[in-house]
Formats: sequence, structure tokens, C-alpha cells
Amino acid sequence: MLKKFIPTYHAKSIYTIDYEKLYSDGIRMIFLDLDNTLITYAMTEPTDKLFLWKKELEEKGFELMLVSNSKKYRVVKFADLFGINYVQFAKKPLKVGFKKAMEKTSKMYKITEIVEIGDQIMTDVLGANRMNFTSILVDPIDKKTEFFVTKLNRVYEGIVCFFLKIFKKSLYKERILGYRGEVECKEDV
Ligand SMILES: [Mg+2]
Repeated sequence: MLKKFIPTYHAKSIYTIDYEKLYSDGIRMIFLDLDNTLITYAMTEPTDKLFLWKKELEEKGFELMLVSNSKKYRVVKFADLFGINYVQFAKKPLKVGFKKAMEKTSKMYKITEIVEIGDQIMTDVLGANRMNFTSILVDPIDKKTEFFVTKLNRVYEGIVCFFLKIFKKSLYKERILGYRGEVECKEDV
């Protein structure tokens, strides 16, 4: 059960992910979280850097789709401006939003061809792992702008991490420690 909270990879941001490796591993479809993964809660539009990043990924042969838990109009607006398909109010970590997303892709993808990238363990990582997608946890861009529900999720996340740290020590060290902003202590100093 605890394993479902551990991402396949951790990266500092969407820009530092090894997309070459993902591609060579057979990944073709990227489901993207919006808030604090692509932009902060305070932002509404894609940046120039994001447009460039998207162009590069599409040229490499990836398809991108927004899968956001937000119900807000900003999801639609962002997706339109960014030129990608979307699922809003996805209810991650439930499977329903991802299933909807899989129906909206330009072609049928196998589970093994899909990655989900997001900044929350309780929604993005857990949801993606429940679907058996590859899951990538990125650091939130700006925690200060998060809303109540996300702040509450962060509390749950803290509790889960407490147990992961004890029972999944090496995986925690490898894939979550950096995300939590913790520094590894040398035991034999
Ligand atoms: Mg998010």
C-alpha cells in the first residue's frame, strides 16, 4: 500500500526531467497537472518558457494533455492558450479523470506508454500509480499560493512521508527526500 505513494522518479521541475529516457522507455503520452506543476496558483497563462518546452516535447514525439483537479475556468483557458487537450475536475487520485483523459487522446495508448507529472503525492503520484502509469513528482513551484484543499493535502502528505521514511527508507531517500527539502545526514561523521 505505501508503495503507491512513491513516484517512479522525482525531478526538481518539469524542465529537469530526462525526456530522452522516457522516450526510450516507450513513453509517448504525458498527462500534466496544472497548478504548481506548470504554473503557480496565482498565474493564469502559459509562459514563453512553457511554450518552448511544449514545442520541444511535441517535436520529440510526445503528446501532452492537462489533467487537473481544478474546476475553475482557468483550466480551460490555460489549455486553450497552450493548445493542448484537457480534463478538468479530474478528481485525482481517483481513476475517473485519467480514464476520461485516456478517451481523449489522439490515439490509443497502452498504460506503459503514459506518464503523469505533478507536484502532489496525495493526488498526482497516488492517482498515477493506481493507474499503473509512470509517475513523476516535481517540486511545487510556489507553495505560498496554494489553496485550502491543497494545504490540507500537504498535511496528509506529511503523515504519509513520515511512514515512508520509516518503512520505505531507501526509496524515500532516492525519490522523496529532495522533494521534502530535507538534507541527507551522514551517519558516520
Ligand atoms: Mg498541483
